[in-house]
Amino acid sequence: MITVLFGPPGSGKGTQAKLLVEKTFLPQLSTGDMLRTAIGHETSLGKKAKIYMDKGALVPDEVVIELIRERIGARDCQKGFFLDGFPRTLAQAEALDVMLTGVGKNVGSAVLFQIDDSELVGRLSGRRTCLKCHSMYHINTNKPKKPGICDKCNSVLAQRDDDKAVVVQNRLKVYHEQTSPLIDYYKSQNKLVTINAALPSELVFKFLVQALGA
Ligand code: AMP
Repeated sequence: MITVLFGPPGSGKGTQAKLLVEKTFLPQLSTGDMLRTAIGHETSLGKKAKIYMDKGALVPDEVVIELIRERIGARDCQKGFFLDGFPRTLAQAEALDVMLTGVGKNVGSAVLFQIDDSELVGRLSGRRTCLKCHSMYHINTNKPKKPGICDKCNSVLAQRDDDKAVVVQNRLKVYHEQTSPLIDYYKSQNKLVTINAALPSELVFKFLVQALGA
């Protein structure tokens, strides 16, 4: 089962991907997490990606396509995986189809997390992320047990630079301009599943599991 999860920043794809991993034991492939790890390790790829991410812009297609190409060849991906935040452009979606066709596989479903922009600004500005394991919290709606500390790995929580208000506006603009064309792309392939991402997380998960037969 190969599933694409896409939607605007803050729509809950990452949170739902983690729940799907716990249920199915298939891995979550998050290009955002891969890039943040590269930034944390100060690799040359990380240094290059940071320039784009800090502005809320997309990292060039060829960089993320190569990250995914390397990752999906791994053993733990053979039974399927959840793509969280990839593809984000039509060029990435087409490259993904070509690479999967080459190994006799294909995307099963593409889930759109649908939610109004007005909801997202509050969600993103209150979001806090674990610097180590990338678990996510919210200062009002999903507090950690100890303030500022990750429940799962005891590391420090921080606000992502790109969750700050001025960058969020640009990320939303980039989503509408560059990622929303994926809606028609997957609709035309009969793979689009639309989920109301404004619902509470437990309900979103319930509908997701039903829709995917996970
Ligand atoms: P995310 O954690 O998915 O919200 O991604 C954070 C940032 O990483 C995005 O705003 C982009 O700058 C970059 N990024 C993540 N995935 C991609 C992708 N598929 N294509 C281009 N840039 C990406």
